[in-house]
Amino acid sequence: MSVIVQKFGGTSVATPEKILAAARKAIRAQKEGHQVVMVVSAMGHSTDELIELAEQVTDRPPAREMDMLLSTGEQVSVALMAMAIDSLGAKAVSLTGAQIGIKTDATHTKARIRSISTQRMRAALDEGNIVIAAGFQGIDEDFNITTLGRGGSDTTAVALAAVLEAEACEIYTDVDGVYTTDPRVLPEARKVSQISYDEMLELASLGAGVMHNRSIEFGKKYDVPILVRNSQSDAPGTMIAAESESPDQAVCGAALFKDEARVSLLGVPDVPGTSLGIFSRIAERNITVDMIVQNVGEGGKADISFTVPKNELAQTLEAVQSAVELFGVGQVTHDAGVAKVSVVGLGMARQTGVAQRMFRALADASVNIQMITTSEIKISALVEREAATRALRAVHQAFELDRSPAQRQAATRLGGSPRATDAADVVARLQGIDMEELCIHEISLDESQARVTISGVPDQPGIAAKVFDEVAAAGVFVDMIVQSYTGHGHASLTFTVPQDQLPSAHEVAARVARSLACQGVTSSPKVAKLSVSGVGLRSHTGVAIRMFRSLADAGINVDLINTSEVRVNVVVDGGKGQAALAKLNEAFHDVLR
Ligand code: ADP
Ligand code: ASP
Ligand code: MG
Repeated sequence: MSVIVQKFGGTSVATPEKILAAARKAIRAQKEGHQVVMVVSAMGHSTDELIELAEQVTDRPPAREMDMLLSTGEQVSVALMAMAIDSLGAKAVSLTGAQIGIKTDATHTKARIRSISTQRMRAALDEGNIVIAAGFQGIDEDFNITTLGRGGSDTTAVALAAVLEAEACEIYTDVDGVYTTDPRVLPEARKVSQISYDEMLELASLGAGVMHNRSIEFGKKYDVPILVRNSQSDAPGTMIAAESESPDQAVCGAALFKDEARVSLLGVPDVPGTSLGIFSRIAERNITVDMIVQNVGEGGKADISFTVPKNELAQTLEAVQSAVELFGVGQVTHDAGVAKVSVVGLGMARQTGVAQRMFRALADASVNIQMITTSEIKISALVEREAATRALRAVHQAFELDRSPAQRQAATRLGGSPRATDAADVVARLQGIDMEELCIHEISLDESQARVTISGVPDQPGIAAKVFDEVAAAGVFVDMIVQSYTGHGHASLTFTVPQDQLPSAHEVAARVARSLACQGVTSSPKVAKLSVSGVGLRSHTGVAIRMFRSLADAGINVDLINTSEVRVNVVVDGGKGQAALAKLNEAFHDVLR
Protein backbone atom coordinates (compact mmCIF):
# COMPACT_ATOMS: atom_id res chain seq x y z
CA MET A 1 0.00 0.00 0.00
CA SER A 2 1.33 3.46 -0.81
CA VAL A 3 2.57 5.65 2.01
CA ILE A 4 1.86 9.38 2.27
CA VAL A 5 3.71 11.63 4.69
CA GLN A 6 1.81 14.74 5.85
CA LYS A 7 3.66 17.38 7.85
CA PHE A 8 1.84 20.05 9.84
CA GLY A 9 3.79 23.14 10.91
CA GLY A 10 3.37 25.10 14.12
CA THR A 11 0.57 27.41 12.99
CA SER A 12 -1.30 24.43 11.53
CA VAL A 13 -1.53 22.78 14.96
CA ALA A 14 -1.71 25.97 17.04
CA THR A 15 -5.19 25.32 18.52
CA PRO A 16 -7.33 22.27 19.38
CA GLU A 17 -9.57 23.10 16.39
CA LYS A 18 -6.60 23.13 14.04
CA ILE A 19 -5.33 19.85 15.47
CA LEU A 20 -8.73 18.31 14.74
CA ALA A 21 -8.73 19.75 11.23
CA ALA A 22 -5.28 18.25 10.58
CA ALA A 23 -6.46 14.93 11.99
CA ARG A 24 -9.37 14.96 9.51
CA LYS A 25 -6.98 15.50 6.60
CA ALA A 26 -4.94 12.48 7.66
CA ILE A 27 -8.01 10.31 8.10
CA ARG A 28 -9.24 11.38 4.68
CA ALA A 29 -5.94 10.29 3.11
CA GLN A 30 -6.18 6.97 4.92
CA LYS A 31 -9.74 6.45 3.67
CA GLU A 32 -8.45 7.12 0.16
CA GLY A 33 -6.32 4.04 0.55
CA HIS A 34 -2.97 5.31 1.79
CA GLN A 35 -0.92 4.42 4.80
CA VAL A 36 -0.43 7.77 6.52
CA VAL A 37 2.50 9.10 8.54
CA MET A 38 1.99 12.53 10.07
CA VAL A 39 4.89 14.67 11.21
CA VAL A 40 3.93 17.46 13.55
CA SER A 41 5.68 20.56 14.87
CA ALA A 42 5.30 22.15 18.27
CA MET A 43 2.05 24.12 18.68
CA GLY A 44 2.10 27.76 17.54
CA HIS A 45 5.03 29.65 18.97
CA SER A 46 5.77 27.16 21.70
CA THR A 47 9.37 26.53 20.55
CA ASP A 48 10.03 30.28 20.79
CA GLU A 49 8.46 30.32 24.23
CA LEU A 50 10.66 27.46 25.41
CA ILE A 51 13.73 29.33 24.14
CA GLU A 52 12.64 32.46 26.01
CA LEU A 53 12.14 30.41 29.15
CA ALA A 54 15.67 29.05 28.92
CA GLU A 55 16.99 32.57 28.41
CA GLN A 56 15.30 33.67 31.61
CA VAL A 57 17.23 31.01 33.48
CA THR A 58 20.63 31.52 31.88
CA ASP A 59 22.21 33.34 28.97
CA ARG A 60 24.37 30.30 28.17
CA PRO A 61 22.13 27.23 28.20
CA PRO A 62 24.06 24.00 27.51
CA ALA A 63 23.11 22.76 24.04
CA ARG A 64 22.27 19.28 25.30
CA GLU A 65 19.74 20.67 27.75
CA MET A 66 18.35 23.00 25.10
CA ASP A 67 17.51 19.93 23.01
CA MET A 68 15.95 18.19 26.00
CA LEU A 69 13.76 21.26 26.48
CA LEU A 70 12.85 22.00 22.85
CA SER A 71 11.91 18.42 22.04
CA THR A 72 9.04 18.66 24.54
CA GLY A 73 7.12 21.01 22.22
CA GLU A 74 6.70 18.32 19.59
CA GLN A 75 5.93 15.70 22.23
CA VAL A 76 2.88 17.71 23.27
CA SER A 77 1.55 17.95 19.75
CA VAL A 78 2.03 14.30 18.78
CA ALA A 79 0.09 13.18 21.84
CA LEU A 80 -2.75 15.64 21.18
CA MET A 81 -2.86 14.65 17.51
CA ALA A 82 -3.15 10.96 18.42
CA MET A 83 -6.01 11.81 20.80
CA ALA A 84 -7.71 13.85 18.08
CA ILE A 85 -7.54 10.97 15.61
CA ASP A 86 -8.76 8.54 18.20
CA SER A 87 -11.71 10.83 18.99
CA LEU A 88 -12.62 10.85 15.30
CA GLY A 89 -12.79 7.07 15.28
CA ALA A 90 -9.52 6.14 13.57
CA LYS A 91 -6.46 4.39 14.98
CA ALA A 92 -3.30 6.33 15.76
CA VAL A 93 -0.04 5.96 17.59
CA SER A 94 2.30 8.81 18.48
CA LEU A 95 6.07 8.29 18.46
CA THR A 96 9.00 10.46 19.50
CA GLY A 97 12.15 10.61 17.40
CA ALA A 98 13.83 8.15 19.76
CA GLN A 99 10.90 5.71 19.61
CA ILE A 100 11.03 5.68 15.82
CA GLY A 101 14.79 5.26 15.82
CA ILE A 102 15.87 8.51 14.18
CA LYS A 103 19.62 8.39 14.82
CA THR A 104 21.57 11.61 14.48
CA ASP A 105 25.07 12.83 15.12
CA ALA A 106 25.74 14.55 18.45
CA THR A 107 25.72 18.16 17.22
CA HIS A 108 23.10 19.44 19.65
CA THR A 109 20.64 22.02 18.25
CA LYS A 110 21.90 21.36 14.69
CA ALA A 111 22.05 17.57 14.53
CA ARG A 112 22.16 15.69 11.23
CA ILE A 113 20.22 12.52 10.57
CA ARG A 114 22.38 9.43 10.18
CA SER A 115 19.79 6.67 9.86
CA ILE A 116 16.14 5.96 10.43
CA SER A 117 14.64 2.63 11.35
CA THR A 118 11.40 1.82 9.53
CA GLN A 119 10.48 -1.29 11.51
CA ARG A 120 8.29 0.21 14.19
CA MET A 121 6.54 2.62 11.82
CA ARG A 122 5.85 -0.18 9.32
CA ALA A 123 4.44 -2.43 12.03
CA ALA A 124 2.16 0.33 13.31
CA LEU A 125 1.02 1.21 9.78
CA ASP A 126 0.33 -2.44 8.98
CA GLU A 127 -1.89 -2.61 12.05
CA GLY A 128 -4.00 0.17 10.52
CA ASN A 129 -2.62 3.06 12.55
CA ILE A 130 -1.93 6.55 11.44
CA VAL A 131 1.62 7.05 12.69
CA ILE A 132 2.25 10.45 14.26
CA ALA A 133 5.92 11.30 14.38
CA ALA A 134 7.42 14.13 16.41
CA GLY A 135 9.21 16.49 14.06
CA PHE A 136 12.64 18.05 14.48
CA GLN A 137 14.10 15.50 16.91
CA GLY A 138 16.23 12.39 17.14
CA ILE A 139 18.74 10.69 19.41
CA ASP A 140 22.48 10.37 19.21
CA GLU A 141 24.56 7.24 19.79
CA ASP A 142 24.36 7.71 23.55
CA PHE A 143 20.56 8.14 23.54
CA ASN A 144 20.78 11.88 24.16
CA ILE A 145 17.89 13.77 22.61
CA THR A 146 18.97 15.97 19.71
CA THR A 147 17.16 18.51 17.52
CA LEU A 148 17.75 19.26 13.86
CA GLY A 149 17.76 23.08 13.90
CA ARG A 150 14.90 25.57 13.70
CA GLY A 151 12.33 24.58 11.12
CA GLY A 152 13.67 21.03 11.18
CA SER A 153 10.30 19.25 11.13
CA ASP A 154 10.34 19.63 7.35
CA THR A 155 13.54 17.62 7.32
CA THR A 156 12.03 14.91 9.52
CA ALA A 157 9.07 14.69 7.16
CA VAL A 158 11.05 14.39 3.93
CA ALA A 159 13.53 11.98 5.53
CA LEU A 160 10.66 9.71 6.67
CA ALA A 161 9.13 9.92 3.21
CA ALA A 162 12.51 8.87 1.77
CA VAL A 163 13.03 5.80 3.96
CA LEU A 164 9.40 4.72 3.66
CA GLU A 165 9.57 5.22 -0.12
CA ALA A 166 6.46 7.34 0.20
CA GLU A 167 4.47 8.40 -2.83
CA ALA A 168 4.73 12.03 -1.72
CA CYS A 169 5.53 14.26 1.18
CA GLU A 170 2.87 16.91 1.80
CA ILE A 171 3.96 19.96 3.79
CA TYR A 172 0.95 21.76 5.30
CA THR A 173 1.66 25.31 6.32
CA ASP A 174 0.08 28.78 6.66
CA VAL A 175 0.55 29.96 3.05
CA ASP A 176 -0.73 28.47 -0.22
CA GLY A 177 2.66 27.19 -1.35
CA VAL A 178 6.06 28.48 -2.37
CA TYR A 179 5.94 32.07 -3.62
CA THR A 180 8.39 34.07 -5.71
CA THR A 181 9.36 35.68 -2.42
CA ASP A 182 7.97 35.79 1.13
CA PRO A 183 4.34 36.93 0.59
CA ARG A 184 4.32 38.49 4.06
CA VAL A 185 7.14 40.82 3.03
CA LEU A 186 5.93 41.54 -0.52
CA PRO A 187 2.18 41.04 -0.98
CA GLU A 188 2.70 41.17 -4.75
CA ALA A 189 4.62 37.85 -4.61
CA ARG A 190 3.16 35.15 -6.82
CA LYS A 191 2.63 31.49 -5.96
CA VAL A 192 4.60 29.13 -8.19
CA SER A 193 3.05 25.86 -9.31
CA GLN A 194 6.28 23.89 -9.46
CA ILE A 195 9.90 24.52 -8.52
CA SER A 196 13.04 22.40 -8.87
CA TYR A 197 14.94 20.98 -5.92
CA ASP A 198 18.03 22.99 -6.81
CA GLU A 199 16.16 26.27 -6.92
CA MET A 200 14.20 25.59 -3.74
CA LEU A 201 17.36 24.51 -1.94
CA GLU A 202 19.09 27.70 -2.91
CA LEU A 203 16.09 29.87 -2.00
CA ALA A 204 15.65 28.11 1.35
CA SER A 205 19.30 28.61 2.25
CA LEU A 206 19.18 32.24 1.20
CA GLY A 207 16.26 33.09 3.46
CA ALA A 208 13.00 31.60 2.14
CA GLY A 209 11.86 30.24 5.49
CA VAL A 210 8.96 28.25 4.03
CA MET A 211 11.10 25.09 3.87
CA HIS A 212 14.03 23.90 5.99
CA ASN A 213 16.90 23.74 3.49
CA ARG A 214 18.10 20.31 4.54
CA SER A 215 14.69 18.83 3.79
CA ILE A 216 15.26 19.73 0.15
CA GLU A 217 18.62 17.98 0.15
CA PHE A 218 16.75 14.83 1.19
CA GLY A 219 14.12 15.40 -1.47
CA LYS A 220 16.76 15.70 -4.14
CA LYS A 221 18.94 12.85 -2.95
CA TYR A 222 16.09 10.39 -2.54
CA ASP A 223 13.83 11.78 -5.26
CA VAL A 224 10.85 12.53 -3.01
CA PRO A 225 8.16 14.78 -4.56
CA ILE A 226 7.33 17.47 -1.98
CA LEU A 227 4.00 19.26 -2.12
CA VAL A 228 3.70 22.49 -0.11
CA ARG A 229 0.06 23.34 0.69
CA ASN A 230 -2.11 25.49 2.91
CA SER A 231 -3.49 23.53 5.87
CA GLN A 232 -6.56 25.78 5.95
CA SER A 233 -7.68 25.28 2.36
CA ASP A 234 -7.69 22.84 -0.51
CA ALA A 235 -5.69 25.15 -2.81
CA PRO A 236 -3.41 23.15 -5.10
CA GLY A 237 -0.07 24.21 -3.60
CA THR A 238 3.45 24.00 -5.02
CA MET A 239 5.25 20.87 -6.19
CA ILE A 240 8.97 20.70 -5.45
CA ALA A 241 10.46 18.16 -7.84
CA ALA A 242 13.25 17.63 -10.36
CA GLU A 243 11.92 20.14 -12.88
CA SER A 244 10.82 23.72 -12.40
CA GLU A 245 7.65 25.40 -13.61
CA SER A 246 9.46 27.10 -16.44
CA PRO A 247 13.06 25.95 -16.84
CA ASP A 248 13.88 28.65 -19.38
CA GLN A 249 13.26 31.59 -17.11
CA ALA A 250 16.38 33.25 -15.77
CA VAL A 251 15.01 33.86 -12.28
CA CYS A 252 12.32 31.91 -10.41
CA GLY A 253 12.40 33.68 -7.07
CA ALA A 254 14.02 36.19 -4.77
CA ALA A 255 14.96 35.78 -1.13
CA LEU A 256 15.83 38.10 1.67
CA PHE A 257 17.86 37.24 4.71
CA LYS A 258 17.51 40.20 7.01
CA ASP A 259 19.66 39.11 9.90
CA GLU A 260 23.03 38.84 8.23
CA ALA A 261 26.34 40.16 9.57
CA ARG A 262 29.51 40.95 7.65
CA VAL A 263 32.95 40.11 8.99
CA SER A 264 36.10 41.40 7.26
CA LEU A 265 39.73 40.55 7.84
CA LEU A 266 41.79 43.33 6.35
CA GLY A 267 45.50 43.03 5.57
CA VAL A 268 45.96 39.32 6.24
CA PRO A 269 48.82 37.40 4.58
CA ASP A 270 48.12 36.62 0.90
CA VAL A 271 49.59 33.12 1.05
CA PRO A 272 48.17 29.61 0.74
CA GLY A 273 46.69 28.56 4.07
CA THR A 274 45.19 31.88 5.16
CA SER A 275 41.63 31.00 4.20
CA LEU A 276 42.10 27.58 5.75
CA GLY A 277 43.25 29.16 9.00
CA ILE A 278 40.19 31.38 9.10
CA PHE A 279 37.44 29.09 7.89
CA SER A 280 38.54 25.96 9.69
CA ARG A 281 38.11 27.81 12.99
CA ILE A 282 34.61 28.85 11.98
CA ALA A 283 33.65 25.42 10.66
CA GLU A 284 34.72 23.83 13.94
CA ARG A 285 31.89 25.81 15.50
CA ASN A 286 29.44 24.54 12.87
CA ILE A 287 28.70 28.02 11.62
CA THR A 288 27.55 28.26 8.01
CA VAL A 289 29.42 30.99 6.19
CA ASP A 290 28.04 32.63 3.08
CA MET A 291 29.28 35.25 0.62
CA ILE A 292 32.99 34.59 1.00
CA VAL A 293 34.90 37.19 -1.01
CA GLN A 294 38.56 37.86 -1.17
CA ASN A 295 40.11 40.66 -3.12
CA VAL A 296 43.17 39.87 -5.12
CA GLY A 297 46.17 40.58 -2.93
CA GLU A 298 48.35 43.66 -3.17
CA GLY A 299 51.73 43.96 -1.48
CA GLY A 300 51.47 40.44 -0.08
CA LYS A 301 48.30 41.25 1.83
CA ALA A 302 44.69 40.30 1.15
CA ASP A 303 41.29 41.33 2.47
CA ILE A 304 38.77 38.59 3.11
CA SER A 305 35.13 39.25 3.89
CA PHE A 306 32.22 36.91 4.44
CA THR A 307 28.80 36.87 5.99
CA VAL A 308 27.24 34.79 8.76
CA PRO A 309 23.82 34.86 10.44
CA LYS A 310 23.77 37.74 12.92
CA ASN A 311 23.05 35.47 15.86
CA GLU A 312 26.33 33.65 15.20
CA LEU A 313 28.42 36.81 14.94
CA ALA A 314 29.87 36.68 18.45
CA GLN A 315 31.11 33.12 18.02
CA THR A 316 32.47 33.95 14.57
CA LEU A 317 34.40 36.95 15.88
CA GLU A 318 35.98 34.74 18.54
CA ALA A 319 37.06 32.32 15.83
CA VAL A 320 38.55 34.92 13.47
CA GLN A 321 40.27 36.77 16.30
CA SER A 322 42.20 33.64 17.14
CA ALA A 323 43.16 33.25 13.47
CA VAL A 324 44.42 36.82 13.24
CA GLU A 325 46.46 36.36 16.41
CA LEU A 326 48.11 33.40 14.78
CA PHE A 327 48.90 35.32 11.57
CA GLY A 328 50.35 38.15 13.64
CA VAL A 329 48.88 40.75 11.23
CA GLY A 330 45.45 41.83 10.11
CA GLN A 331 42.51 43.72 11.43
CA VAL A 332 38.99 42.46 12.02
CA THR A 333 35.96 44.64 11.30
CA HIS A 334 32.30 43.74 11.25
CA ASP A 335 28.87 45.14 10.51
CA ALA A 336 25.84 43.60 12.18
CA GLY A 337 23.40 45.84 10.30
CA VAL A 338 23.29 44.18 6.89
CA ALA A 339 20.85 42.08 4.90
CA LYS A 340 21.30 39.79 1.92
CA VAL A 341 19.09 39.98 -1.16
CA SER A 342 19.37 37.14 -3.64
CA VAL A 343 17.80 36.00 -6.88
CA VAL A 344 17.76 32.35 -7.86
CA GLY A 345 17.10 30.58 -11.17
CA LEU A 346 18.38 27.58 -13.09
CA GLY A 347 18.06 29.48 -16.37
CA MET A 348 20.53 32.13 -15.24
CA ALA A 349 23.55 30.18 -16.42
CA ARG A 350 22.25 30.17 -19.96
CA GLN A 351 21.38 33.87 -20.19
CA THR A 352 23.39 37.04 -20.21
CA GLY A 353 22.51 40.28 -18.50
CA VAL A 354 20.90 38.79 -15.38
CA ALA A 355 23.40 40.30 -12.96
CA GLN A 356 23.26 43.58 -14.80
CA ARG A 357 19.48 43.67 -14.44
CA MET A 358 19.68 43.08 -10.71
CA PHE A 359 22.37 45.72 -10.16
CA ARG A 360 20.47 48.22 -12.32
CA ALA A 361 17.30 47.67 -10.27
CA LEU A 362 19.18 48.25 -7.01
CA ALA A 363 20.91 51.34 -8.40
CA ASP A 364 17.60 52.82 -9.58
CA ALA A 365 16.20 52.27 -6.08
CA SER A 366 19.29 54.06 -4.66
CA VAL A 367 20.41 50.97 -2.82
CA ASN A 368 24.14 50.70 -2.23
CA ILE A 369 25.60 47.22 -2.81
CA GLN A 370 28.25 46.42 -0.23
CA MET A 371 29.24 42.99 -1.49
CA ILE A 372 28.33 40.75 -4.42
CA THR A 373 28.69 37.02 -4.97
CA THR A 374 27.32 34.91 -7.77
CA SER A 375 27.11 31.26 -8.68
CA GLU A 376 25.59 29.40 -11.62
CA ILE A 377 22.11 29.72 -10.20
CA LYS A 378 22.09 32.70 -7.85
CA ILE A 379 23.27 36.24 -7.34
CA SER A 380 23.48 37.72 -3.86
CA ALA A 381 23.97 41.35 -2.91
CA LEU A 382 24.67 42.59 0.59
CA VAL A 383 22.89 45.82 1.49
CA GLU A 384 22.26 47.82 4.65
CA ARG A 385 19.38 46.40 6.66
CA GLU A 386 17.27 49.58 6.39
CA ALA A 387 17.24 49.18 2.62
CA ALA A 388 16.39 45.45 2.68
CA THR A 389 12.70 45.47 1.79
CA ARG A 390 13.14 48.25 -0.76
CA ALA A 391 15.94 46.24 -2.36
CA LEU A 392 13.86 43.06 -2.43
CA ARG A 393 10.93 44.87 -4.02
CA ALA A 394 13.13 46.50 -6.66
CA VAL A 395 14.64 43.17 -7.65
CA HIS A 396 11.31 41.32 -7.58
CA GLN A 397 9.88 43.96 -9.90
CA ALA A 398 12.90 44.02 -12.21
CA PHE A 399 12.48 40.31 -12.95
CA GLU A 400 8.66 40.66 -13.23
CA LEU A 401 8.25 37.98 -10.61
CA ASP A 402 4.71 39.16 -9.85
CA ARG A 403 3.69 37.97 -13.32
CA SER A 404 3.38 34.38 -14.49
CA PRO A 405 6.31 33.01 -16.50
CA ALA A 406 4.03 32.94 -19.55
CA GLN A 407 3.38 36.67 -19.20
CA ARG A 408 7.07 37.31 -18.70
CA GLN A 409 8.12 35.47 -21.78
CA ALA A 410 6.90 32.68 -24.05
CA ALA A 411 8.35 29.85 -22.01
CA THR A 412 7.67 26.17 -22.60
CA ARG A 413 5.83 24.63 -19.72
CA LEU A 414 6.72 21.16 -18.58
CA GLY A 415 3.86 19.16 -17.11
CA GLY A 416 3.90 16.65 -14.26
CA SER A 417 6.91 15.56 -12.28
CA PRO A 418 8.01 12.14 -13.39
CA ARG A 419 10.30 10.57 -10.81
CA ALA A 420 13.69 10.44 -12.39
CA THR A 421 14.78 7.31 -10.57
CA ASP A 422 13.24 4.44 -8.71
CA ALA A 423 13.01 5.33 -5.01
CA ALA A 424 13.89 1.84 -3.81
CA ASP A 425 16.97 1.96 -5.98
CA VAL A 426 18.13 5.25 -4.59
CA VAL A 427 17.52 4.19 -1.02
CA ALA A 428 19.47 0.97 -1.65
CA ARG A 429 22.33 2.82 -3.30
CA LEU A 430 22.73 5.13 -0.34
CA GLN A 431 22.46 2.33 2.21
CA GLY A 432 25.30 2.09 4.67
CA ILE A 433 26.18 5.77 4.57
CA ASP A 434 24.83 8.48 6.82
CA MET A 435 21.60 9.79 5.33
CA GLU A 436 22.71 13.39 5.44
CA GLU A 437 26.27 12.58 4.45
CA LEU A 438 27.94 14.82 1.93
CA CYS A 439 27.76 13.48 -1.66
CA ILE A 440 30.14 14.81 -4.29
CA HIS A 441 29.15 14.03 -7.88
CA GLU A 442 31.85 15.74 -9.86
CA ILE A 443 35.06 17.75 -9.70
CA SER A 444 35.88 19.72 -12.83
CA LEU A 445 38.38 22.18 -14.22
CA ASP A 446 37.70 25.10 -16.55
CA GLU A 447 40.80 26.70 -18.02
CA SER A 448 39.03 28.93 -20.51
CA GLN A 449 38.59 32.07 -18.44
CA ALA A 450 40.43 35.28 -17.67
CA ARG A 451 40.03 37.67 -14.73
CA VAL A 452 39.46 41.43 -14.55
CA THR A 453 39.62 43.41 -11.29
CA ILE A 454 38.71 47.03 -10.71
CA SER A 455 40.18 48.21 -7.44
CA GLY A 456 39.46 51.24 -5.28
CA VAL A 457 35.83 51.36 -6.31
CA PRO A 458 33.93 54.08 -4.41
CA ASP A 459 31.35 52.56 -2.09
CA GLN A 460 28.22 54.19 -3.52
CA PRO A 461 25.04 53.13 -5.37
CA GLY A 462 25.17 52.46 -9.10
CA ILE A 463 28.77 51.39 -9.66
CA ALA A 464 28.16 47.69 -10.35
CA ALA A 465 25.19 48.61 -12.54
CA LYS A 466 27.35 50.96 -14.60
CA VAL A 467 30.20 48.47 -14.96
CA PHE A 468 28.00 45.59 -16.08
CA ASP A 469 25.81 47.77 -18.31
CA GLU A 470 28.95 48.68 -20.23
CA VAL A 471 30.38 45.18 -20.17
CA ALA A 472 27.11 43.78 -21.55
CA ALA A 473 26.98 46.52 -24.20
CA ALA A 474 30.41 45.34 -25.37
CA GLY A 475 28.97 41.83 -25.79
CA VAL A 476 31.20 40.31 -23.10
CA PHE A 477 29.91 37.20 -21.32
CA VAL A 478 30.57 37.40 -17.58
CA ASP A 479 30.74 34.27 -15.42
CA MET A 480 31.75 34.87 -11.79
CA ILE A 481 31.31 38.27 -10.14
CA VAL A 482 32.57 39.20 -6.71
CA GLN A 483 32.58 42.55 -5.08
CA SER A 484 34.43 42.72 -1.82
CA TYR A 485 34.73 45.26 0.89
CA THR A 486 38.24 46.64 1.31
CA GLY A 487 37.67 49.14 4.11
CA HIS A 488 37.86 52.96 4.09
CA GLY A 489 34.77 53.35 1.92
CA HIS A 490 36.19 51.33 -0.96
CA ALA A 491 35.47 48.04 -2.63
CA SER A 492 37.03 45.94 -5.34
CA LEU A 493 35.07 44.38 -8.17
CA THR A 494 36.33 41.23 -9.87
CA PHE A 495 34.78 39.23 -12.69
CA THR A 496 35.77 36.44 -15.01
CA VAL A 497 35.26 36.38 -18.79
CA PRO A 498 36.20 34.05 -21.66
CA GLN A 499 39.89 34.47 -22.52
CA ASP A 500 39.23 35.75 -26.04
CA GLN A 501 37.03 38.50 -24.63
CA LEU A 502 39.62 39.77 -22.18
CA PRO A 503 40.90 42.63 -24.37
CA SER A 504 37.46 44.17 -24.75
CA ALA A 505 36.54 43.46 -21.11
CA HIS A 506 39.75 45.11 -19.91
CA GLU A 507 39.19 48.11 -22.13
CA VAL A 508 35.63 48.61 -20.91
CA ALA A 509 36.71 48.18 -17.28
CA ALA A 510 39.51 50.74 -17.72
CA ARG A 511 37.12 53.22 -19.29
CA VAL A 512 34.50 52.82 -16.54
CA ALA A 513 37.19 52.95 -13.84
CA ARG A 514 38.43 56.27 -15.18
CA SER A 515 34.97 57.76 -15.40
CA LEU A 516 34.10 56.68 -11.83
CA ALA A 517 37.44 57.67 -10.27
CA CYS A 518 38.37 54.13 -9.28
CA GLN A 519 41.98 53.29 -8.47
CA GLY A 520 42.80 51.07 -11.40
CA VAL A 521 42.27 47.86 -13.35
CA THR A 522 44.32 44.70 -13.33
CA SER A 523 43.72 41.48 -15.19
CA SER A 524 45.05 38.00 -15.60
CA PRO A 525 44.93 36.43 -19.08
CA LYS A 526 44.35 32.91 -17.80
CA VAL A 527 42.82 31.63 -14.60
CA ALA A 528 41.77 28.12 -13.63
CA LYS A 529 38.31 27.57 -12.18
CA LEU A 530 37.75 24.37 -10.23
CA SER A 531 34.27 23.23 -9.33
CA VAL A 532 33.15 20.65 -6.81
CA SER A 533 29.47 19.72 -7.26
CA GLY A 534 27.17 17.58 -5.19
CA VAL A 535 24.54 17.68 -2.45
CA GLY A 536 24.95 19.24 0.98
CA LEU A 537 27.83 21.47 0.04
CA ARG A 538 26.88 24.48 2.04
CA SER A 539 25.27 22.93 5.07
CA HIS A 540 28.37 20.75 5.49
CA THR A 541 30.63 23.50 6.72
CA GLY A 542 33.70 21.38 5.96
CA VAL A 543 33.57 21.39 2.13
CA ALA A 544 35.30 24.70 1.54
CA ILE A 545 37.78 23.75 4.28
CA ARG A 546 38.72 20.54 2.51
CA MET A 547 39.29 22.53 -0.65
CA PHE A 548 41.37 25.15 1.13
CA ARG A 549 43.38 22.50 2.96
CA SER A 550 44.26 20.43 -0.07
CA LEU A 551 45.16 23.49 -2.15
CA ALA A 552 47.17 25.04 0.68
CA ASP A 553 49.09 21.75 1.11
CA ALA A 554 50.04 21.98 -2.56
CA GLY A 555 51.07 25.62 -2.18
CA ILE A 556 48.24 26.84 -4.41
CA ASN A 557 46.71 30.22 -3.55
CA VAL A 558 42.92 30.64 -3.87
CA ASP A 559 42.10 33.92 -5.66
CA LEU A 560 38.32 33.74 -5.73
CA ILE A 561 35.71 31.45 -4.28
CA ASN A 562 31.99 31.20 -4.75
CA THR A 563 29.56 28.82 -3.20
CA SER A 564 26.06 27.61 -3.83
CA GLU A 565 24.15 24.69 -2.42
CA VAL A 566 25.16 22.47 -5.30
CA ARG A 567 28.60 23.70 -6.18
CA VAL A 568 31.73 25.32 -4.73
CA ASN A 569 33.99 27.06 -7.25
CA VAL A 570 37.49 28.33 -6.65
CA VAL A 571 39.69 30.28 -9.01
CA VAL A 572 43.43 29.76 -8.88
CA ASP A 573 46.43 30.80 -10.95
CA GLY A 574 46.09 29.72 -14.60
CA GLY A 575 49.19 27.54 -14.52
CA LYS A 576 48.04 25.56 -11.48
CA GLY A 577 44.77 24.13 -12.77
CA GLN A 578 45.85 20.54 -13.39
CA ALA A 579 47.75 20.31 -10.11
CA ALA A 580 44.75 21.71 -8.24
CA LEU A 581 42.40 19.26 -9.94
CA ALA A 582 44.55 16.32 -8.91
CA LYS A 583 44.66 17.58 -5.33
CA LEU A 584 40.90 18.03 -5.13
CA ASN A 585 40.23 14.58 -6.53
CA GLU A 586 42.44 13.21 -3.81
CA ALA A 587 40.79 15.31 -1.11
CA PHE A 588 37.25 14.25 -1.99
CA HIS A 589 37.79 10.66 -3.13
CA ASP A 590 35.97 9.25 -0.10
CA VAL A 591 32.75 11.18 -0.78
CA LEU A 592 32.69 10.95 -4.59
CA ARG A 593 29.64 8.90 -5.55
P1 ADP B 1 5.45 26.16 9.47
O1 ADP B 1 5.24 26.49 10.90
O2 ADP B 1 4.26 25.61 8.80
O3 ADP B 1 6.68 25.31 9.25
P2 ADP B 1 6.95 28.50 8.61
O4 ADP B 1 6.67 29.76 9.33
O5 ADP B 1 8.19 27.76 8.95
O6 ADP B 1 5.67 27.56 8.74
O7 ADP B 1 6.96 28.76 7.03
C1 ADP B 1 5.89 29.43 6.41
C2 ADP B 1 6.23 30.91 6.25
O8 ADP B 1 7.35 31.03 5.37
C3 ADP B 1 5.18 31.74 5.58
O9 ADP B 1 4.25 32.20 6.52
C4 ADP B 1 5.97 32.86 4.92
O10 ADP B 1 5.90 34.05 5.65
C5 ADP B 1 7.40 32.38 4.93
N1 ADP B 1 8.04 32.42 3.62
C6 ADP B 1 9.30 32.90 3.38
N2 ADP B 1 9.61 32.82 2.10
C7 ADP B 1 8.55 32.26 1.47
C8 ADP B 1 8.29 31.90 0.12
N3 ADP B 1 9.18 32.10 -0.85
N4 ADP B 1 7.10 31.33 -0.16
C9 ADP B 1 6.20 31.11 0.81
N5 ADP B 1 6.38 31.44 2.10
C10 ADP B 1 7.55 32.01 2.44
N1 ASP C 1 9.25 23.44 16.40
C1 ASP C 1 10.51 23.62 15.72
C2 ASP C 1 10.73 25.09 15.42
O1 ASP C 1 9.90 25.92 15.74
C3 ASP C 1 10.61 22.79 14.47
C4 ASP C 1 9.65 23.14 13.38
O2 ASP C 1 8.62 23.77 13.60
O3 ASP C 1 9.92 22.76 12.22
O4 ASP C 1 11.75 25.45 14.87
MG1 MG D 1 8.74 25.72 9.02
